[in-house]
Amino acid sequence: MTVEGGLQAVRDPARVRALAARLAEGAGGRPLTLMHVCGTHENTIARCGLRGLLPAGVRVIAGPGCPVCVCPPEDIQAAAELALEPGVTVATFGDMLRVPGDLSLEEARARGGDVRVVLGAHGAVELARDEPDRQVVLFAVGFETTACTVAAAVLADPPPNLSFLLSHRRIPPALEGLLAIADLPLDGFLLPGHVLTVTGLEPYDRLARAAGVPAVVAGFEPVDVMLGLVQLAARAGRGETGNAYPRAVRPGGNPIALAMLARAFLHDHARWRGIGAFPESGYALRPELAHLDARRRFGVDTDRELPDHAEGCQCGEVMLGMVEPEDCPLFDRGCSPSTPRGPCMVSAEGTCRNRHQFRSVGHG
Ligand code: SF4
Repeated sequence: MTVEGGLQAVRDPARVRALAARLAEGAGGRPLTLMHVCGTHENTIARCGLRGLLPAGVRVIAGPGCPVCVCPPEDIQAAAELALEPGVTVATFGDMLRVPGDLSLEEARARGGDVRVVLGAHGAVELARDEPDRQVVLFAVGFETTACTVAAAVLADPPPNLSFLLSHRRIPPALEGLLAIADLPLDGFLLPGHVLTVTGLEPYDRLARAAGVPAVVAGFEPVDVMLGLVQLAARAGRGETGNAYPRAVRPGGNPIALAMLARAFLHDHARWRGIGAFPESGYALRPELAHLDARRRFGVDTDRELPDHAEGCQCGEVMLGMVEPEDCPLFDRGCSPSTPRGPCMVSAEGTCRNRHQFRSVGHG
């Protein structure tokens, strides 16, 4: 099959509708609450109006799947303050600039701070090589998929004027933490295909077995997402994992990427904005690479903790699936993509942003 033919197949509306019928059969009239953990899944679901195809009683709620949204405000503040230091350039990914806070990166830039947008870790490496008289700090945010690209840069003998302000997060420990939150009845997790191309399914097997909650990995086209939901409904009540994205995800993940992560980082206790702190849910540089740690190089206060949200913003509840964005009193009434009050309205992976952008599509 050609690439074009393959894309048509996974975007075929007739297949999507047929899968919706299979989902209804599999659910068998039971109420099911399924959580995705991926901003790209939210984008597909909202953009393609998939919620409108769900059978009665089946809900797909958004979990903490947006790395920009879960990045704690103190990390953003630290990056913004570093950008205002003479001779320091902060390189980061585009969505981070507009996340509101005491001092956003955009505000730091307006005050004369040097903030540059890079498309990946390689961009920060090039920047540091091109401008050897400046200290370049890569403010690195993202889940395992992005973390392994940063690990590659860390391990590739980076220029001495480059350091790393890490705010990466690992999904499995956060899901374990979510399951311990009593008010969160969940019947399954839809897992992010790109993250699992790195990690594989194994880290989720233990989680699913221990909690008796199924977890299925899915890709990002509408057929992929619906197939993942069908597989979840078929496993409801059973602590099993499933792979609805076998064209990309292998059970053991990507051994080369996993080896790089292990050589560069240790697992670290980490805070998720609006949700809580979970053991081993973040990454820290290994002790032998601590000289590359921007927090250490610039004496960043690692004990500081800032309030998660502006007054009235319910991003924490949105990221736990407890509140739908449209139920937030500020949604489109003071908070919109052009005037975001919280990170969920900023990022292209944010639940509020996606619901706002695709509200004319409807989601049932
Ligand atoms: Fe926060 Fe705006 Fe979302 Fe409300 S609509 S939860 S204020 S980002």
